[in-house]
Amino acid sequence: MVKMPSHTLIRDPKVECMPIEERRQLQFKRLKDLVERVYIQSPFYRKHFIEHGVRPDDIKTLEDLRRLPFTVKDDLRENYPFELFSVPVKDVVRIHCSSGTTGKPVVSGYTHNDMETWTELMARTFTLAGVTYRDVVHNAFGYGLFTGGLGHDMGARKIGAAVVPMSGGVNNRQIMLMEDFGATVLTCTPSYALVLAETAAKMGVDIKSRLKLRVALFGAEPSTEEMREHIEEKLHLEAYETFGMGEIMGPGISVECAYHNGMHMQDDHFLPEIIDPDTGEPLPPGEQGELVITTLTKEAMPLIRYRTRDITRLNTEPCPCGRTAIRHFKLAGRTDDMMVIKGVNVFPSQVEAVLLRHSELAPQYVLVVERVNNLDRLEIQVEASDEFYNQGRDNIEQFTKKLHHEMQQMLYISSKITIVPPRAIQRSEGKAKRVIDRRKETNQI
Ligand code: ADP
Ligand code: ZN
Repeated sequence: MVKMPSHTLIRDPKVECMPIEERRQLQFKRLKDLVERVYIQSPFYRKHFIEHGVRPDDIKTLEDLRRLPFTVKDDLRENYPFELFSVPVKDVVRIHCSSGTTGKPVVSGYTHNDMETWTELMARTFTLAGVTYRDVVHNAFGYGLFTGGLGHDMGARKIGAAVVPMSGGVNNRQIMLMEDFGATVLTCTPSYALVLAETAAKMGVDIKSRLKLRVALFGAEPSTEEMREHIEEKLHLEAYETFGMGEIMGPGISVECAYHNGMHMQDDHFLPEIIDPDTGEPLPPGEQGELVITTLTKEAMPLIRYRTRDITRLNTEPCPCGRTAIRHFKLAGRTDDMMVIKGVNVFPSQVEAVLLRHSELAPQYVLVVERVNNLDRLEIQVEASDEFYNQGRDNIEQFTKKLHHEMQQMLYISSKITIVPPRAIQRSEGKAKRVIDRRKETNQI
């Protein structure tokens, strides 16, 4: 359903509402410049292009983009730390990297101009959510190597809002400072927003009367529409979803407008494509596949046709807000998060959508996948709400049966449902870990 917008603030209408044809010309000009630039400045891309038999002169139209080879995450890992930079390190002013829990981290470098662009795109993002210099932004994204904290900080500062550089953690203090400083805007992951709502309830703080929150920017992890509604209700605010990725830039790649019907990709800087993840072939607009992004303006570490592994669909319909930047729908998940269980594709978001329909449950869950006798087994552990948990075993057993049936209809496979006591599932300060795949360790025949 399309919600009516509560406002229509646009930071840079000349660019954000640029006629489509003009936008395409700008994209082409930037693409051409990018390809020529990396061919000269980046040993990686020069070699990559030569190996795939393509030269900058081959790019004669925007559609020729598809002649260029993909860049994948392993290219970043293999060229650790700085081999993918297109400028000397002396021109780099900021280096971020992923947490690197699996192997070497993925590095991202920025020149002075890159930082200016990022700041401006985050300023557009806040403006689009109706945030102005009058607001107090409580920024609970982590500060540090993770791009979430600093990215939001720079954008909020640019529009003149007061930023509280909170980071995640010490939950009681977060509630206290939001109240004392009169925070009107909250920025964090949706799962951390849930933690904050829970904390306020535990502290006996009535959010509606004691906090002034009105808007939230949520991103960095998948969440369903049901989860958004739940958070909006608990925190008494309007939530805007954002999409970001460290190696492309960080937050600010795309964001929902006040119509809440897909995220506008800031495609004067990031050119999207959707491909079939198995064949690499581009898919027509509207079809679901893997999102591929070309950074049109980045100087320090441009990426050409970068395979994000995120699954979504593009929406080329004009948006009533007047912005002409292309939209994409909510991410269905990552190709690496998609579990293939008994041959069927399962995304955590499908499970979340079913769980959040029920007031008997708290929106905290984890999916455990194991392999028993050579067969996959999916267990969905979900917390009961306090009230429901006190209603006794029989009620819980009956409800579990009903939920099992609903889940089977959604997933097309049978799963084991385990209802656990309130607060039994571990909370996170940043991105929630929703899938525990134990198939490799548990395969016993
Ligand atoms: P960031 O610093 O912006 O979180 P990371 O590189 O740590 O970037 O993680 C990027 C990944 O986070 C994306 O590839 C995507 O899988 C996930 N992500 C970010 N925003 C969203 C979102 N709105 N919905 C779903 N997944 C998201
Ligand atoms: Zn719009």
